Amino acid sequence: MTEITFRVNLPLEHRGLYASCVSDEGFVDVNEFIEKLPDIKFEKMDLGSDISGVLEKTGKNTFRIIVNEKESEERQRFTAAHELGHYFLHRDFLKYGGKIEDRYILKAKNISDEKEAEANQFASAFLIPLDKVVKVMQSGKRNAESLADHFGVSIIAIANRLGIPT
Ligand SMILES: [Zn+2]
Repeated sequence: MTEITFRVNLPLEHRGLYASCVSDEGFVDVNEFIEKLPDIKFEKMDLGSDISGVLEKTGKNTFRIIVNEKESEERQRFTAAHELGHYFLHRDFLKYGGKIEDRYILKAKNISDEKEAEANQFASAFLIPLDKVVKVMQSGKRNAESLADHFGVSIIAIANRLGIPT
């Protein structure tokens, strides 16, 4: 049974920034959020066909998130939020110069399945604010496809967020 958390689990000091990156309609600008975090350098580049995203520790308290610009916009958004999840939840596991390289299925070699699941759960909660989903559904968009389109995420991400088995 998937646990549905109402809000994304962000440190208190970043909640104001998050709120400023969510539009009235519920679209979350993940790029803007990452760019405004002082400890993270955010880049988009061609990472080849195998790697979707990277979280790298570049200094004592500095990190870099790279997203594969060759993948779809929806995909890049989820990857960015997934790497952000690794940053908030798992960055203490990285040594200086260490990195998490997520392959296409968002699974890195040096990270457990449990931590990957945590990063995915973080990403879904980050990109799909539940209070906004409720409003959108009340306005008539009820099926997973139109909700996915509205929030700029995959149908699987919507289904996971709402606890619908896929
Ligand atoms: Zn990962």
